[in-house]
Amino acid sequence: MTPTLTPTPVSPSPSTTFADLALVEPIQRALAEKNYTIPSPIQAQSIPYLLQGRDFIGIAQTGTGKTAAFALPILQRLAANPAPATSKRPRALILAPTRELAAQIGQSFATYGRYLKLTHTTVFGGVNIGPQIRTLSRGVDVLIATPGRLMDLENQRHVSLDKVEVFVLDEADRMLDLGFVHEIKRIITKLPPRRQSLLFSATMPPAIQDLASSLVHNPARVEVTPVSTTAERIDQQVCFLNRGDKCRALVHFFKQQPDGLVLVFVRMKHMANKLVEQLARDGVQAEAIHGNKSQAARQRALENFRAGRSRVLVATDIAARGIDVKGITLVVNYDLPEEPESYVHRIGRTARAGLDGKAIAFCDTSERTLLRQIERLIRRPIPVLKDHPFAAAAAQDAAPRVDYGNGIDRVHRPSPNRNGGGFRPSSGGGSRFGGARSGEGQARSGGSRFGGRNRR
Ligand code: AMP
Repeated sequence: MTPTLTPTPVSPSPSTTFADLALVEPIQRALAEKNYTIPSPIQAQSIPYLLQGRDFIGIAQTGTGKTAAFALPILQRLAANPAPATSKRPRALILAPTRELAAQIGQSFATYGRYLKLTHTTVFGGVNIGPQIRTLSRGVDVLIATPGRLMDLENQRHVSLDKVEVFVLDEADRMLDLGFVHEIKRIITKLPPRRQSLLFSATMPPAIQDLASSLVHNPARVEVTPVSTTAERIDQQVCFLNRGDKCRALVHFFKQQPDGLVLVFVRMKHMANKLVEQLARDGVQAEAIHGNKSQAARQRALENFRAGRSRVLVATDIAARGIDVKGITLVVNYDLPEEPESYVHRIGRTARAGLDGKAIAFCDTSERTLLRQIERLIRRPIPVLKDHPFAAAAAQDAAPRVDYGNGIDRVHRPSPNRNGGGFRPSSGGGSRFGGARSGEGQARSGGSRFGGRNRR
């Protein structure tokens, strides 16, 4: 059964502020400290519904501010009906596909809930389960979890989901990509029937529609920036070159980018390690982040990157999902992804929180089909960067023909540009978050607790 979907209901004016959103003072104060004044479109449109307790489907990708869109109403709901945290029985459950995303969500709850007397914890695999068991046993209000570890804890009766009032399935499409469908279905059966359910996904393929129909009832539905609309502010380019030149080309583009952080995507874990070694030989300090690294090593690499100690981070898709680092000015698709949607997620790591960003895709002859799939998905050609020392003339001449989904088979060529080859859609210009707010200079939230006054 397809859920009944209400059309996008609210058209908040561009001047909607957080103060207009009926959020309680302790939340407003935490937002003000983060310098958040203007809600992003997903926030402005979803928060009123969620405060009413409606079930919800949000079609939004990372970078749109969707975490606060669900975290703020959850905090408000729980704070409005205070209840002592019960051992092993959280009142809100957020499921995230990867450890990094779960940790990121945990940080958001810590930040936005710092003036509320609520507790939360984050559980994921790859780390010692003991401390997670102890924290759950003391009782937390909000549990953020990856599916596998949550099922382990549930099977061993260290957590029970029968008191969950709000359930969030975040990045549902990614969950299915990662093969979590059975875990998710099982987790849903453990939830009480009376609850508020939210599903967020960047895309809405039929499998997600099916999942939604078993999860939400009469949901409100809000859609922002569908995945086929690649993040507007990103200046995208494709660079045709030979596979053997990719590393040198990376060093070249890195040197052209004197400021900012550079995030590089590769397909294979071993390639990430190899590339870090190659870059070191060229005098570029880089670190790798991928699924074979321990959680501690991933966090360390991320912190070094965030702090600018290594300006280059080489990542695989799985590890990159939750990366929310301000100041990434360039994303390099060193290898094109097998799934075209991953391209959108990858480049969405730059131009976050209203800042500008650039994305360069390296494409060797074996990757032409992948490029075509990406262009079909985003329904536009990615401008070709010809002016670089590794341009493989032969490859460039063989211009692929692309069907952009409108039935017209067009020759791949750069669109008329205003930025030295860079693509910038005409609608660009305003901040994605409405212009007046600042996404910069935000204090990082620390620890796993909401605020100093929290119980233990
Ligand atoms: P998300 O899509 O939830 O991963 O959020 C993307 C980034 O936007 C994060 O760095 C948030 O801290 C930031 N952000 C979220 N909401 C706002 C807002 N209203 N104003 C400024 N920055 C925001």
